[in-house]
Amino acid sequence: MWFRRDLRLGDNPALLAAIEEAGSGDDPRVVPLFVVDPVLWQASGPVRKAYLVDALRSLDDSLGGQILIQHGDPVDVVPAIARASGATSVHVAADFGPYGRRRDDAVEAALRVPLVRTGSPYAVAPGRVTKDDGTPFRVFTPFWKAWTRHGWRGPAGAPPTDVEWWMPVECDGFPDRPDLGDLELPAAGEQAARARWAAFRDQRLAAYPESRNRPDLPGTSVMSHHLRWGEIHPRTMLAELGQQDEVFAKELCWREFYADVLATAPKSAHSSLDQRYDDDMRWTEGATARAMLATWAEGRTGYPFVDAGMRQLRAEGWMHNRVRMVVASFLVKDLHLPWQLGAREFMHWLRDGDLASNVHGWQWTAGCGTDAAPFYRVFNPILQGQKFDPDGEYVRRYVPELRHLPGAAVHEPWNDPAGYRHGYPQRVVDHAVERGVALADFEAIKR
Ligand SMILES: Cc1cc2nc3c(=O)[nH]c(=O)nc-3n(C[C@H](O)[C@H](O)[C@H](O)COP(=O)(O)OP(=O)(O)OC[C@H]3O[C@@H](n4cnc5c(N)ncnc54)[C@H](O)[C@@H]3O)c2cc1C
Repeated sequence: MWFRRDLRLGDNPALLAAIEEAGSGDDPRVVPLFVVDPVLWQASGPVRKAYLVDALRSLDDSLGGQILIQHGDPVDVVPAIARASGATSVHVAADFGPYGRRRDDAVEAALRVPLVRTGSPYAVAPGRVTKDDGTPFRVFTPFWKAWTRHGWRGPAGAPPTDVEWWMPVECDGFPDRPDLGDLELPAAGEQAARARWAAFRDQRLAAYPESRNRPDLPGTSVMSHHLRWGEIHPRTMLAELGQQDEVFAKELCWREFYADVLATAPKSAHSSLDQRYDDDMRWTEGATARAMLATWAEGRTGYPFVDAGMRQLRAEGWMHNRVRMVVASFLVKDLHLPWQLGAREFMHWLRDGDLASNVHGWQWTAGCGTDAAPFYRVFNPILQGQKFDPDGEYVRRYVPELRHLPGAAVHEPWNDPAGYRHGYPQRVVDHAVERGVALADFEAIKR
């Protein structure tokens, strides 16, 4: 069993397939393998690396200390382990990302035994839900309807308790966990995922439709890092939702939609779905672009809601969805920087960093992706703050220079004579002006 982004034992059809095959042969042992692929490891920021190490340690505990970690190119490592163990097959959950697909095809070609793909990290595998003419969806609502109609299997059970795990060669050891300083990660692993899910389901799910847009409240599940690493399968969560929980099911569906879009348009990992954005749009360039990017990334734009979001990202390796949209809109439409720069910054810091959700979350906000009303949606960072952080609690939590301002006054420090007393920066741009520039630039590329 080659684990990748499915770091759990329960509800894991690929693992059950491996166990079943082992049980039917002469040698009932299963090798639980994880390969630290330098391509993926080096591309990850310190937060995701640290989280992965924690997740692997947790999986290792569940396996009685028998996880076999190997460092190297999977094209070499996986066949070598298959040979060393005399394996009759290698089991995986299918990967639908551009790199994962290429890698799996190359591993399959290098193996002398079958690579068996069972299940995927999604309730419905990317590519399965299509329009009537067989082409992929590019707009969420019809995808959601077709996805719901398609349906999914119920959760698979837990593996038997008497599986004999086996390490045929010496383990290379866990990768080094980067030092994150003050940044504290939440507990990783299958048990932590199940516990967090159960607590959310029992205590907060009913209020989710009203509270999910409020970054000042604990209104969302904060399950994204668990889903990212497959410490829980979305099917496990979907199976416990009732009819009244459609709003939450829809959010899980966004994850599936974006995986589908990326799988059917792999170039969108780095290029805009609407190519005019990359070819014709006027972007800020040179030293100004570099300075603006740094200002945004460090949370010094002078717009409190934007700065709170970017500081939350660096403090926790996570950001609330509403604020992700607002900071993304600000980068593209107020600072006129290409979404790819923001997506890279997000991937560096996010503990839930996921290629499909990230590049398409960015493209949706930039207006060059799957938004049904592209580009004209320009978030006003002040109004968004006032609406979704009405008492200013969220801003005060992450922006200490504004803690002296009461209530919603925190969203407009320029209106308070004491607003800048503790060194909060002035606004780097005028939102009303930049909004006009963005809309004019968009009109120009449409022609
Ligand atoms: C610019 C931008 C970048 C993003 N980058 C990522 C990313 O790298 N990784 C990531 O997992 N999510 C990403 N998202 C989506 C979303 O912000 C996070 O999934 C969500 O904030 C996670 O918090 P939660 O688990 O409390 O979500 P909840 O509101 O509790 O939702 C439950 C689950 O549904 C899924 N989900 C919810 N909203 C979305 C969405 N808009 N798109 C895709 N999946 C969604 C997530 O798996 C989430 O854990 C991005 C959104 C934007 C706007």
